[in-house]
Amino acid sequence: MNHQAKKRFGQNFLRDKNLLMKIVRESNIANQFVIEVGPGQGALTTFLASSAKKVIAYEIDESLKPILDELEEKYENLKVIYQDFLNADLSIYKENIHVVANVPYYITTPILFKLLETKNIKTASLMIQKEVCDRLLATPNSKQYNALSIILQYHAEASKMMDVKRHMFYPVPNVDSAVIRIVKRNHPLVESSKEDLFIRMVKEAFTQKRKTLINNWHHGFDIPKESLESFLIENGYTKDVRAEALSIKDFIKLVGMWKYD
Ligand code: SAM
Repeated sequence: MNHQAKKRFGQNFLRDKNLLMKIVRESNIANQFVIEVGPGQGALTTFLASSAKKVIAYEIDESLKPILDELEEKYENLKVIYQDFLNADLSIYKENIHVVANVPYYITTPILFKLLETKNIKTASLMIQKEVCDRLLATPNSKQYNALSIILQYHAEASKMMDVKRHMFYPVPNVDSAVIRIVKRNHPLVESSKEDLFIRMVKEAFTQKRKTLINNWHHGFDIPKESLESFLIENGYTKDVRAEALSIKDFIKLVGMWKYD
């Protein structure tokens, strides 16, 4: 059956078997419970279903049903659900979940947050834009470093599995891609009563990247600048430090010392 790729659903399909097998192999999903976001024409799904115990695939585009029906017939352990993944209730699954997906790029960030915030999702291998992958894995003092790099590190250990050139997809997109491998942490880096504050401190710190930490926190938390100045100096930082110079360890230290309620 011929399917016309739909741009509005971020449809860029894969077909290279070696690439697909490599993603599945390095995702360590043998006999595991897997969720795929956007099976499309089933290129990745086939390899997932051959390896995993169970695969639940969420697809928004119902016109792909005839193609995916055939796969469901072939693989008893595959179930396709025609629904927007962002609205899917994942709390119905009681087992540990591993996500593997060639992500529709227009919703990369909300998908990432959903995965990070769903407790029983343990790992994820996600094909995303290379530029987004580099931003997520950026380190302090680099141009790409941002709040999301730190929030991702807070929830997980992340690394690049591989780069993937644009011509591996059809239709060929305007950007290169990469697969990011995310392994969630078993133990939180910050005590749970301080988690919300930690996330807020990180987000506020980066609201205007060129401004100092004092400026951003002053506006975000409504704390007098003089007070923030002594807070930073007491903890070994200069008053003109910017968020981009701080590692996750620095933010963890500062949330531990935070004296404002
Ligand atoms: N997995 C296939 C592959 O690798 O060839 C297709 C990947 S394509 C980049 C993204 C897929 O996600 C498309 O099939 C698209 O229809 C689907 N999709 C887009 N938005 C979605 C959403 N909100 N929920 C579930 N699937 C979605």
